Amino acid sequence: MEEELRTLQENHLYRRIKVIESPQKSHVRYQGRDMLMLASNSYLDLCDEECIKTYVADVLREYGTGSGGSRLTTGTTVLHTKLEERLAQFKGREAAVVFNTGFAANSGIIPALCKKGDIIYSDEKNHASIIDGCRQSAAETVIYRHNDMEDLEKKIQEHPPKSGLIVSDGVFSMDGDIVNLPVLVKLADTYGLLSMIDEAHATGVIGDSGRGCEEYFHMEGKTDILMGTLSKAIGAEGGYVCGPRVLTEYLKNKARSYIFSTSPAPVTMAAAERALKLIEEEPWRVRRLQENTRWFCEKLKEHGISASSESAIVPIRIGDEEKAVRVSERLMEFGYFIPAIRYPTVKKGEAMLRAALMATHTKEELAAAAYAVSSAMNSCGL
Ligand SMILES: *Cc1c(COP(=O)(O)O)cnc(C)c1O
Repeated sequence: MEEELRTLQENHLYRRIKVIESPQKSHVRYQGRDMLMLASNSYLDLCDEECIKTYVADVLREYGTGSGGSRLTTGTTVLHTKLEERLAQFKGREAAVVFNTGFAANSGIIPALCKKGDIIYSDEKNHASIIDGCRQSAAETVIYRHNDMEDLEKKIQEHPPKSGLIVSDGVFSMDGDIVNLPVLVKLADTYGLLSMIDEAHATGVIGDSGRGCEEYFHMEGKTDILMGTLSKAIGAEGGYVCGPRVLTEYLKNKARSYIFSTSPAPVTMAAAERALKLIEEEPWRVRRLQENTRWFCEKLKEHGISASSESAIVPIRIGDEEKAVRVSERLMEFGYFIPAIRYPTVKKGEAMLRAALMATHTKEELAAAAYAVSSAMNSCGL
């Protein structure tokens, strides 16, 4: 272990935990200082939202802290089913099922759906939880080039026709780019495969009202399986799957991570449900987030830094791991929280800063942040 940790240190791949001393919001306290948070997945800044906290405090008083069992035994309260109903309605589906986390959802859904003799086509940049889901499945997994639909079709044609799944992130978690959903769905339909999209970074972020990839492409109802998380823009915890009722009933009976794990606490479910309601009632939050992305990319470009994104994630490419860490440390000194992303999260030599925007960042804050990024990069010889 010591040797392995030393190797990580030598390669600038050693991870240290940063301990935050305040709620997760656009400004956080870190090592006693106020920092502008530009790395959080809490894109709509709902973790510390007053109206949600007030509601959840009542739920806490009434329902307490834990759920005492798995969803199939004692762990389903009215708050769990209410959230599932709202999720299904939000995503325009017949039904939804909530898992403990997005990670648990992916690692439960994929092995439950894909058996020995089936085939899974998976994007090379899919999230680790999809990769683990594929590894836990007895089906064959075929990796296609990132968001490359020609490569996907070629790989499908190279394999004998089988039942199975095409699975992709909707918004890719490190690069912030969006899946080519129209072609992916067409290929799935043409070749008799199921389509599954992971909306972790899409829900609450893309589409006019934040409903995700289908809304973004104006192709509502076309994907077979929509999964996502409640831990990012929704500001709570948990994973979910939306689809036809036969799918959700099947998963409740077959997905091991659903069956063999204690269900999330009622307060967590209440927080997620109230957040979804807020997103529907106050669409300006999603619009502000989308405006912020455009603004921040423009400001970076004014400083000669190439940046583009239609999600809340703006990658700033560095390459070298050591330099990425130094730029990030410099930004920390300036009061900006933007950690470096390194191998194994991205490929070796492709280290980057992953800026993540919030609906509540002001234009002034983002303009100043873009300037700080440029100064930090300059001071590291970039
Ligand atoms: C974060 C993430 C997950 C996991 O969700 P959690 O609720 O954090 O476990 C799954 N898929 C993608 C694409 C993610 O970015």
